[in-house]
Amino acid sequence: MKNLKKAVLYENLKDDKVKCNLCAHRCIIAPSRKGICGVRENIEGELYSLVYGKTTALNVDPIEKKPLYHFYPGSKALSLATIGCNFKCSFCQNHDISQASKKDWDGKDEKEILPSQIVALAKKYECRSISYTYTEPTIYFEYAYDITQLACKEGLANNFVTNGFMTQEALNTISPYLHAANVDLKCFKEKTYKNVMGGRLQPVLDTLTLMKKLNIWVEVTTLIIPTINDSD
Ligand code: SF4
Repeated sequence: MKNLKKAVLYENLKDDKVKCNLCAHRCIIAPSRKGICGVRENIEGELYSLVYGKTTALNVDPIEKKPLYHFYPGSKALSLATIGCNFKCSFCQNHDISQASKKDWDGKDEKEILPSQIVALAKKYECRSISYTYTEPTIYFEYAYDITQLACKEGLANNFVTNGFMTQEALNTISPYLHAANVDLKCFKEKTYKNVMGGRLQPVLDTLTLMKKLNIWVEVTTLIIPTINDSD
């Protein structure tokens, strides 16, 4: 079994099934099957992340590109992603990598980069923070969680660019190391979240509320998509 990381925040169920509690889908996954995000697999009754350390995008970006306009303005953020997302938005700006885990993915654009190497790169390029972005950081939680902790030890800040569809357990777990988030509030209708994103609105609202309680700096983005959310 190579390049796999045992998952966090899951439960063992009968018949070797597992329940993933990272995001609000709370997938119940049978052996040899993956969750909705396509990057977490039940292998012989235990849940594993398939994307730990497998960076598919890595750039030094201005923090304003996240976008975060009131979090270390003018600074640089080392920005990374693995493939995969728990939503299915057809309008995703990073559709090629966010939805890659649901198709045949050959991994040719992935690089194995350890958390310590990510932090070293952030320091080398004089970044003030590390940004977990481009796809959905919740689904590569184990990788992000390890990086955030090392980053804090080196005096770097961490920020998520997220759809907010995470569980309260996941947010509580990473909150000591998470300083800011830009949450993509995609629309204001449950029906649109269900039909277009493949999610639900209420967990996103719950995430926003909990982030405020946890003193995480929050900025909200709503991308206007003609005919989908421009009349909400
Ligand atoms: S992260 Fe979400 S979509 Fe992926 S397996 Fe866990 S509950 Fe399912």
